[in-house]
Amino acid sequence: EVRVRFAPSPTGPLHIGGVRTALYNYLFAKKNGGKFLLRIEDTDQTRFVPGAEDYIKDSLEWLGITADESPWNPGDVGPYRQSERKADYMQYALDLVEKGHAYYAFDTSEELEAMRERLTAARVVQPQYNSITRTQMKNSLTLSEEEVKERLASGDPYVIRVKIPRKEEVRLNDMIRGWVMVHSSTLDDKVLMKSDGMPTYHLANIVDDHLMEITHVIRGEEWLPSAPLHVLLYKFFGWESTMPQFAHLPLLLKPDGNGKLSKRDGDKLGFPVFPLNWENKATGETAAGFREQGYLPDAFLNFLAFLGWNPGNDQEIFSKEELVEAFSIERIGKSGTKFDIAKAKWYNEQYLRSKPDSELAEFVAADAKSSGTEISPELAENIVRLTKERVTFPSEFWKDYQYIVIAPDSFDEQVASKKWNEDAVKVLTHYAGVLDNFSGTFDAETAKTLLGESAEAEEIKLGKVMQAVRLAVTGVGGGPDLMEIFAILGTAEVAKRIRFALD
Ligand code: GLU
Repeated sequence: EVRVRFAPSPTGPLHIGGVRTALYNYLFAKKNGGKFLLRIEDTDQTRFVPGAEDYIKDSLEWLGITADESPWNPGDVGPYRQSERKADYMQYALDLVEKGHAYYAFDTSEELEAMRERLTAARVVQPQYNSITRTQMKNSLTLSEEEVKERLASGDPYVIRVKIPRKEEVRLNDMIRGWVMVHSSTLDDKVLMKSDGMPTYHLANIVDDHLMEITHVIRGEEWLPSAPLHVLLYKFFGWESTMPQFAHLPLLLKPDGNGKLSKRDGDKLGFPVFPLNWENKATGETAAGFREQGYLPDAFLNFLAFLGWNPGNDQEIFSKEELVEAFSIERIGKSGTKFDIAKAKWYNEQYLRSKPDSELAEFVAADAKSSGTEISPELAENIVRLTKERVTFPSEFWKDYQYIVIAPDSFDEQVASKKWNEDAVKVLTHYAGVLDNFSGTFDAETAKTLLGESAEAEEIKLGKVMQAVRLAVTGVGGGPDLMEIFAILGTAEVAKRIRFALD
């Protein structure tokens, strides 16, 4: 059975790249009839941010990326929060010490710093604690067995480090990148257990993936450099036969392709890099989210799926079910994907247009209400019908087209200076008089015919004054079919607005 996991650390709001990772894991699991797990990696207590875990939960809920097993919906391989498994990790680290694949290290931060300085002075490019330098440090490989025992007994602070072999080719066959080969001499003796008794990411991640029977690790490319260490850990534990397959996803890049889209880019780029609005209750720091900007979850999900994957044909609109059906890791690209906000908007427009008018009308009525105007469902639906092709976000229905309900009290000066003239005044005056006396059905057709007759009576070409007529009734120079708007307003309201404009 395929079992995959999304394993975020609650260190702040979930970045859009993390949401994509979650989605690809979800799609892969569902496509293969497997399970999608969510695990909270919260062993780094110094980076814990209150509210971050709820944020992860809410973000995935918004998009309908539902975990089969999670801290809130546990299966039987829990706990699903690493901090709750704290007591177990030490046993695994000690197991490696016993097998000779890990060792105690007692170096103080001053001693570590001194080593780095020594190496830097000797022009070592990447000063690290490794098979060469560990021979000069204070650890259970250099100290006598007795001294190690004493230090442990007296409660000296220590960490447990992995013992990376000096000469070994480490290979892994990444599902996206193919064979990756690294020589062990380039790796360092990473800390597995910290002096606070907590495991590091590397240890906890491998132990949990093993205990949770994970078959495929699908995660961001930033973890590729850690993968050789992870392969070695599987080997050291004797878990090689059940080692998961790796798939490292290409980076999300800034729109210009210049570097990766980072958490701090949101403000500079003018669009969010987070799914939901975020507020750090402790620091007051805030960030904008896609949901609150008016992105529809199904549209946004569709957009996200295409950030690095494509179906191999030109179909762009996919429901979640269709994505599950079409998804495959083989169709994930190797190179980074530019984040294209115009495409995100395009998706939103497509999804918005495919929704029933009555559903969208609820947004309009709600927005109208919260700005103090009650409108009927019919009127709300009429607004939607006329403007649906012109909006990107549901909030624009009321923000940009409330003039269909509320008469304008000001007029676009720029349009007025170009289009308002004697001819327009003549036609509008005539038309207002006609409307006063009209008593039939005032539909768009009729509104147009009557307006044409007014222009004819004044011997003026209708096309020349059309924009002025729009300006008089709506206050702006462009918009949806004006005659449809007239039909919604009715003769009395149109006449009233014209007289106000003529005044
Ligand atoms: N906790 C890691 C993160 O925040 C998980 C990386 C992985 O999936 O192995 O991205």
